[in-house]
Amino acid sequence: MGFDKFGRKSFTSFTKTGKFVDLLAEGKVEGTVCKQCGAKYFPPRADCAKCLSKDMDWFELPKKGTLETFTTAMYAPFGFEADAPYTMAVVDFGAGVKAFARLAKDFSDPKIGMDVTVRPLKYDDGQITFEIAKA
Ligand SMILES: [Zn+2]
Repeated sequence: MGFDKFGRKSFTSFTKTGKFVDLLAEGKVEGTVCKQCGAKYFPPRADCAKCLSKDMDWFELPKKGTLETFTTAMYAPFGFEADAPYTMAVVDFGAGVKAFARLAKDFSDPKIGMDVTVRPLKYDDGQITFEIAKA
């Protein structure tokens, strides 16, 4: 599966982290970890920004993180017009691993500090992404 299947509007067909989309399709939300220095990245990076190694592996995000912050977009950029309003948030999984994503449509009454999880989301048109849900 190519990266063109990722997100509501995908601007990139091929990346070195294309496996990310296959993993989402399998129900797994994974980032990459550097085999040299242990730095973790989400979304996944093909190369380590810390030590410049290309020797990377995959790791599954923890099932539970903390809602760090959120904001609601009343106007959306190109490709997302039909979705507004929607709420974007940051989840902190600890050890420097954070995820930036939308809150699930049925996510009500978000509170900073609450337990949340990141899960795959498949749109009606077959596109795949990830979203934040209550843990
Ligand atoms: Zn590294």
